[in-house]
Amino acid sequence: MRQRIQMVDLHGQYMKIKAEVDAAIAEVIDSSAFINGPAVGRFASALAQYAGAAYVIPCGNGTDALQISLMALGLRPGDEVIVPAFTYVASAEVIALLGLVPVMVDVDRDTFNTDIRFIEKALTPRTRAIIPVHLFGQSCDMAPIMEFAQAHGLYVIEDNAQSLGAVYRFRDGSCRHTGTIGHIGCTSFFPSKNLGCYGDGGAVFTDDPELAGRIRMTANHGQQVKYHHDVVGCNSRLDTIQAAVLEVKLRHLGEYCQARQEAAARYREMLGDVDGIELPAESAYSTHVYHQFTLKVADGRRDALKEHLASCGIPSMIYYPLPLHRQKAYLKPDLSLPVSEYLASGVLSLPMHTELDSGMQERIAGAVKEFFRK
Ligand SMILES: *Cc1c(COP(=O)(O)O)cnc(C)c1O
Repeated sequence: MRQRIQMVDLHGQYMKIKAEVDAAIAEVIDSSAFINGPAVGRFASALAQYAGAAYVIPCGNGTDALQISLMALGLRPGDEVIVPAFTYVASAEVIALLGLVPVMVDVDRDTFNTDIRFIEKALTPRTRAIIPVHLFGQSCDMAPIMEFAQAHGLYVIEDNAQSLGAVYRFRDGSCRHTGTIGHIGCTSFFPSKNLGCYGDGGAVFTDDPELAGRIRMTANHGQQVKYHHDVVGCNSRLDTIQAAVLEVKLRHLGEYCQARQEAAARYREMLGDVDGIELPAESAYSTHVYHQFTLKVADGRRDALKEHLASCGIPSMIYYPLPLHRQKAYLKPDLSLPVSEYLASGVLSLPMHTELDSGMQERIAGAVKEFFRK
């Protein structure tokens, strides 16, 4: 029987590391140190080492990571935070939740990413921070964003939920992992992310010891000393069981990134000559760890292609069908962000995961080609 094709194959990935993961989980249960057990600190250190960050503060999920970061910066209600309109809602949600003002900007058409050209136009005297989002697996062009932020005294919080493992190259040739370039970086360990746990998880990265202290304190009820609360905080922790799973999976992250890159290269080979779709662009300044493989479908045929694929038993997803300024909760009827609007109407993500093989991809590519032959 032919194997069912999935958007993400978490079970297949688990089966290959089952012994390691099961042992790590059993050890936590055996120790019963469910909260802040030793695996949490060990994983944070290993991740800091992997990414080249001075401090990694684990927390409950990627959305919390963003919220805690904004709280730790001490921004005031009414302060403006620049955020791309073409992203997952969490990037902007936390801004609004804290009484700050999300200022939504357009993105680069080729890379889907937050771009300095649109950030510049959004600057006002109330701008305090920028949240660039490294969407779908590759870095935003960070050098001009950091220069701009420095010139205007703005904080940069990278939303790195989708691109952990990607490496950005500066103009002088030096390289840094995404999430370690801005003042703060945030990531998510949601199961389907490139480094996913078996539940919820997230982390905040920084090189600044003072910020690290404030972030840690904010995530822990605003306390440094137990039962002494210096600031209003929240409660956001990474479970020990999740940390144990992540400790195992971090050792495989290099292979996982490579498997995604190989799958992307096969898609390019199979789909390179199809008229009617545009394959995702790879920028010169970043590696791409392919959280998603996202097509742009021409001539308003995206939904029809999606339906055709579904009829062939092939899943696909629209990330994202509405830009933020067209969402009810964040509606800006007079704001026009043409690239984000165009992308929302034309993008389609194909199955992309570590277990994808060329046989499955032949079937996917075959179905795409069949649609455009019709
Ligand atoms: C997944 C994601 C988040 C939020 O992560 P959670 O762990 O689900 O809270 C934030 N931003 C982006 C871009 C994401 O893809």
